[in-house]
Amino acid sequence: MRTPLIAGNWKMFKTIAETMKHVKALRPLVKDITDVEIVVAPAFPSIHAAAESLRGSNVLVAAQDLYWEREGAFTGEVSGAMLKDAGADLVIIGHSERRTLFGETDATVNRKIGAAFAADLAPIVCIGETLDQRERSETLDVLDRQIRAGLDGVTSGQLVQLVLAYEPVWAIGTGRNATPDQAGEAHAHIRQRLRQWFGAEAADLCRVIYGGSVKPENIRDLVAQPDVDGALVGGASLDVKAFFDIARNAAEAFR
Ligand code: PEP
Repeated sequence: MRTPLIAGNWKMFKTIAETMKHVKALRPLVKDITDVEIVVAPAFPSIHAAAESLRGSNVLVAAQDLYWEREGAFTGEVSGAMLKDAGADLVIIGHSERRTLFGETDATVNRKIGAAFAADLAPIVCIGETLDQRERSETLDVLDRQIRAGLDGVTSGQLVQLVLAYEPVWAIGTGRNATPDQAGEAHAHIRQRLRQWFGAEAADLCRVIYGGSVKPENIRDLVAQPDVDGALVGGASLDVKAFFDIARNAAEAFR
């Protein structure tokens, strides 16, 4: 009932030339993977080139962030309408690097989600606990808080378009992924809260993906968990072959 999703977050890597090389190699590799949605999220300057090069393919383009105003005197910021115009169909919001390095909060995440919907961009909203919070057994409370505040005002109809990415902060870029059981527990909890707050129908259609040191070797066990609908991949998505292997292994595991 939910189309699995594998998304690559390129972070601040790849020039336009490197982006073109990557997507030209990726496009034919993944063309037969039809049962998993595949997304790449280049840096802002490469979005347009990536989208043009991937036009008519089964790979969609996401941005890594947006600002909530439509236009105006906001030096350095980029609006949802601009990203849509550049060819993006989705946008990552509230990545833990944005929260820890750039002061984003659940309140700014909430405004950005509204802006994404206004621009017809599907939000990929990142949530997840720090190591301290996990060690203090606060994981599920943190997730509740991030969902409640971040998704405040989101309707059940909108939830179906939104993707939640559970990304335990301690697993991002560390090589240390959550165990399938840890991911499964968090995802089951998220699904249950979504049912409670948005209704079963919308909750069962909302994709909840896992992120944190996903590799070709661990993707199968992670997506074997019933509420894990795919992955947000950082480091491994920079390598065409590794990203293809993740998408292919996920597609096989979901079959
Ligand atoms: C991410 O940046 O969203 C991420 C999960 O990174 P990595 O796969 O490198 O841990």
